[in-house]
Amino acid sequence: MSTFQAPKGTYDLLPPASAVYLAVRDAISAPLRTSGYGYVETPGFEDVELFARGVGESTDIVTKEMYTLTTKGGSELALRPEGTASVLRAALEANLHKAGNLPVKLWYSGSYYRYERPQKGRYRHFSQVGAEAIGTEDPALDAELIILADQAYRSLGLRDFRILLNSLGDKECRPVYREALQGFLRGLDLDEETRRRIDINPLRVLDDKRAEVRKQLVDAPLLRDYLCDACRAYHEEVRALLAAAGVGYEDDDRLVRGLDYYTRTTFEFVHDGLGAQSAVGGGGRYDGLSEMIGGPALPSVGWALGVDRTVLALEAEGITLALPAPVTVYAVALGEEARRLLFGVVTALRKAGIAADFSYGERGLKGHMKNANRSGARFTIVAGERDLAEGVAQLKDMESGEQSPVALDALVTEIGSRLG
Ligand code: ATP
Ligand code: MG
Repeated sequence: MSTFQAPKGTYDLLPPASAVYLAVRDAISAPLRTSGYGYVETPGFEDVELFARGVGESTDIVTKEMYTLTTKGGSELALRPEGTASVLRAALEANLHKAGNLPVKLWYSGSYYRYERPQKGRYRHFSQVGAEAIGTEDPALDAELIILADQAYRSLGLRDFRILLNSLGDKECRPVYREALQGFLRGLDLDEETRRRIDINPLRVLDDKRAEVRKQLVDAPLLRDYLCDACRAYHEEVRALLAAAGVGYEDDDRLVRGLDYYTRTTFEFVHDGLGAQSAVGGGGRYDGLSEMIGGPALPSVGWALGVDRTVLALEAEGITLALPAPVTVYAVALGEEARRLLFGVVTALRKAGIAADFSYGERGLKGHMKNANRSGARFTIVAGERDLAEGVAQLKDMESGEQSPVALDALVTEIGSRLG
């Protein structure tokens, strides 16, 4: 133990568990990579104003959860709390929307920071894989993203998750609903902060998790009853495409992402084994965001899935991913000459694309074999002086236990052919 510990609300990813995180990131991004999404990477921090405008002044993220800092040069920056604003900023800055075909489809993977009250599934540093499709309004695009997330979760073996779906309307019908909702909310018994929220962002009140608030919301007007014809038709098409793809979802009239630029399709992935932190991912359409950060009108849709909570969901369902052993071959050398030769064999194996490791350091056969067993390697190569005199090493198949001498210069081909 050192004098230091990981900061509150954070944790380290260490082997062997870290392999699961890599596999989850890989599984979530795999369907995107084969569906026309290109990889984007943006800085871990941005101008604080980007998030203030891009995430919303009235959100918890901006008012309470942001890590902000002033640089020595006087710039006001924030560690990124989410990915969408940064990705859109990057796409606009590089004029990707002018350079190629729309939509611009991008995916990302990285660390995000929110100053939250740490608890299971809620950390101050967490990781997301996300996708954004920028510049096109097409219900098939909304459906595509939901289908790809569903595919990603299923490829991991997850079953106990649900997709909640709603439409938030557009600049045509949302304001009418907003007013009706404000009228309703003003008649309720609410605390000061929530009352302020009614003026700034009334939809977010619907997202309140407190029981005493929730029970007052039972008769709140529903956006469903206010959708304009265009929004209604758009939403029906998204639903039809999901159904045709065999992706099950639940209509959730109360699902909101209460930012002004969120429009139409809104969805959340919830897992039933996670308790309070049940949202494993979420997303939706944000047709107004580009203009909010100074860009042209670019209707877009995206999602972000939480890697940490996805790993917790795997645990909750008792799923152990079938991960390959880190190495396939483990070499044990006894004596100086054997070390030199087998080290060369290990290097050759690696060049041939066969994962291999070597038992380093001075120790006896027993110690070396312990390392070999722990490595989980399928094959062990052992060579001592007597083997060298015959120009061979012992190749042991750790699965069958069978062992045979193989000429040193034939080891790579022999192992290659046994692996098929
Ligand atoms: P919640 O309602 O749980 O606070 P959120 O609406 O803030 O979630 P989003 O901003 O939509 O979450 O982020 C997408 C996903 O990122 C979430 O569904 C979740 O899996 C993950 N996530 C968000 N905040 C955290 C956190 N503090 N720790 C771990 N994962 C998080
Ligand atoms: Mg949150």
